[in-house]
Amino acid sequence: MLCSTEPQYCKTPLDIAFDADGVTITTGPEQHYRTAYSVDAGGFRSLLADKFDLRDFGLHTHSRSSFTHMINVPDFHEVSTSQKAANLPFSVAEGTLHHVFEGGWLWVIPFNNHAAFTNPLCSVGLMLDPRMHPPQNDLSAEEEFFAFIERFPSVAAQFRNARSVREWVRTGRIQYSSKQIVGDRWALLGHAAGFIDPLYSKGLYITLTSVSILAHHLLQANHNGDYSRERFLPLEKTTLAYIHSNDRLVANSYTSWGTYQLWTAYSVLWLLGAYTELVKLFSIRIQSMEHGKINQQQLFDQLQQIKLAGGFADYDRVAHTIDTIIEAVDLTNAHQVATAVEQIQVFFTQLTGCHYLSRLC
Ligand SMILES: Cc1cc2nc3c(=O)[nH]c(=O)nc-3n(C[C@H](O)[C@H](O)[C@H](O)COP(=O)(O)OP(=O)(O)OC[C@H]3O[C@@H](n4cnc5c(N)ncnc54)[C@H](O)[C@@H]3O)c2cc1C
Repeated sequence: MLCSTEPQYCKTPLDIAFDADGVTITTGPEQHYRTAYSVDAGGFRSLLADKFDLRDFGLHTHSRSSFTHMINVPDFHEVSTSQKAANLPFSVAEGTLHHVFEGGWLWVIPFNNHAAFTNPLCSVGLMLDPRMHPPQNDLSAEEEFFAFIERFPSVAAQFRNARSVREWVRTGRIQYSSKQIVGDRWALLGHAAGFIDPLYSKGLYITLTSVSILAHHLLQANHNGDYSRERFLPLEKTTLAYIHSNDRLVANSYTSWGTYQLWTAYSVLWLLGAYTELVKLFSIRIQSMEHGKINQQQLFDQLQQIKLAGGFADYDRVAHTIDTIIEAVDLTNAHQVATAVEQIQVFFTQLTGCHYLSRLC
């Protein structure tokens, strides 16, 4: 589509019509373009999601967002626990800092945290479960942010002199998925397919994985002329697997922030998933770089199997057991919380045959 509409690039389509031989995109009166396939990367307002009524809001996670770019946000260690007292080998300002609390979290992502920085900005965003922290529409997004963080003195101290340099964005609940990701001669990509929460920074990663898989199938379709839904189903399976595994992990992270012990136990599952994912991605990459070890088709066959935690079946079993424990717990019942923490610790101990993982809890 990009090639045939290049002179009109960025012009919003008014209609997209499909027939057996191709796609017709209309951008205005007498402005029609023909293409073999249509990829909708239009984010939440995807034309195809709208046209085919694809949106699915039946997700576990509930969160809303307020975010901006700021200046004058100091390293957290300057206003609170020192790096030495926290026993960290590096400052928290060298990475992405997440403040987590009951019903939400707050990100601080400095772009000026290395010697050669040219960008003085810091990305700041507050995510809140609207069922626990409903929007305060009588306040501006900025006023709501500063009023909210007053309940955490060390967080408030970090933003004492901070100033936003662009308008705050405040959203409603931001979770959505799609009933279908591919159809005959069309696909939804990235944000057009769905979104959960930026907590584990899966957005760009999922988008780029989808682009790789889609490109692979498009090249084959261009060869054999088969642009059917069936041909592109692996993209749907991978995209939905990512969305749903991310959804359950994020929803139960929010739940576990209700008590420190529960989050300490649950965070081991997240770490386990993050590291097995890294192992899987590196192993695929190394195999693909070692000439002759796997061919391109085998590479994509592996890529299409992955979801969070690298798609390892053993991880799925572990995650299901622990997620089920978290989902059953009544956070207002201290005895139930303590029992859940113990169950998770025992499970990790039995899983590893040693006490390493349970000691992390
Ligand atoms: C608050 C927040 C924080 C995030 N933080 C992270 C993070 O830390 N790490 C991470 O990896 N990901 C993060 N993400 C996710 C990341 O932003 C998305 O994964 C990524 O932007 C998806 O890219 P996309 O191109 O699919 O969609 P988008 O970035 O949503 O782009 C869609 C584009 O399509 C355009 N468009 C829509 N309709 C039309 C039309 N009819 N005609 C022409 N253009 C149109 C829109 O204007 C927009 O520019 C975050 C997301 C949010 C909401």
